[in-house]
Amino acid sequence: MAHDDAKPAGNANKLVIRNIGLLLSGDLRQPILDVDTVVAVDGKITAVGKQGDVDVARATTTIDAKGTTLAPGLIDSHVHPVAGDWTPRQNQLGWIDSYLHGGVTTMVSAGEVHTPGRPRDVVGVKAMAIFAQRIFMAFRPGGVRVHGGAPVIEHGMVEEDFKELAAAGVTILGEVGLGSVKDGKTARQMVLWARKYGIQSTIHTGGPSIPGSSLIDKDMVLETDADVIGHINGGHTALPGVQIVELCEKSTRALEIVHNGNEKAALLTLRTAKELKQLDRVILGTDSPAGSGVQPLGILRMISMLSALGEIPAEVALCFATGNTAKIRKLDGGLVAPGRAATFVLMDKPQHSAGKNLLESIQLGDLPGIGMVVVDGLVSVQRSRNTPPATTMPEVVPA
Ligand SMILES: [Zn+2]
Repeated sequence: MAHDDAKPAGNANKLVIRNIGLLLSGDLRQPILDVDTVVAVDGKITAVGKQGDVDVARATTTIDAKGTTLAPGLIDSHVHPVAGDWTPRQNQLGWIDSYLHGGVTTMVSAGEVHTPGRPRDVVGVKAMAIFAQRIFMAFRPGGVRVHGGAPVIEHGMVEEDFKELAAAGVTILGEVGLGSVKDGKTARQMVLWARKYGIQSTIHTGGPSIPGSSLIDKDMVLETDADVIGHINGGHTALPGVQIVELCEKSTRALEIVHNGNEKAALLTLRTAKELKQLDRVILGTDSPAGSGVQPLGILRMISMLSALGEIPAEVALCFATGNTAKIRKLDGGLVAPGRAATFVLMDKPQHSAGKNLLESIQLGDLPGIGMVVVDGLVSVQRSRNTPPATTMPEVVPA
């Protein structure tokens, strides 16, 4: 039987979000859309438009945004999960759920490196990666999607290992440099094998993070040529500024700026990318949990810091943590556009901000107040327990 895709068939879930005051698309090419309504069916966006132009009938859930701002759920490009919602690094429970209250709906593992007693032998490395990939596929705290299972390369790995990992569902490598491979030649070979089988790579950049990790300078980053220049602003210790500029200029790979890094180096990276007219390479992560702890508002803080001190419009800075990361990491969310995941954060300027609206408040360095988080078409969080309170809150309209 033919049917109109805009109409939910049978018991489909149809979500309508109306009265959106400002819609941030996540797309650098057009970060603000002049629309006020988003419709999603069974977790996928089906329409983005003006209320009068889209089919809002027979919604199973209606959200009145009350004139607040809707953006894609934020993506943290650099986390170090272990198992479940626990981090042994700071012995803390519930950290992923806390990040959800900071607007983060998707996380990408840069290696499950804080696992106590993590294996260093090849079969153990592979087993742990497959274990992490599986558990985080099945376990989504508050709906947060953690892309886990990121093996850290070790000496002794051969092409067949990457083929086997890819066949088992592994799609990302942990940070190159955190294992025994510390030379560019070996790292490059393994990154090429990974890429051949569809596994994306990230390299640690800068000084050692914690005892046991080590310096990776620009020569090794360039020689290895991983897909993402992980924490180009150091994690936490940054390379000299001239090396950071050289990485921006000589490589075409993604420039990942992290919260758990050097803020001066973050601003240098941003300025250089802007001068090169390559802001589409900038992506954001927290590089947490780590020595500096758990950072539930880390991605919001990065957006605000880069916008305020880097003099970047807030709607552009938001793209770094949404559409840019989704594109580089090949993820489903990150954009408010038909066909994408219906995963959103609704926010407003925080109460008593000096800014006259959300964008101005971010540009002044304040953090947004989150009023609601929607994951795959379902309301996951109402007022955030972690951000400053939003001035105006969206509401679920009673059926
Ligand atoms: Zn690192």
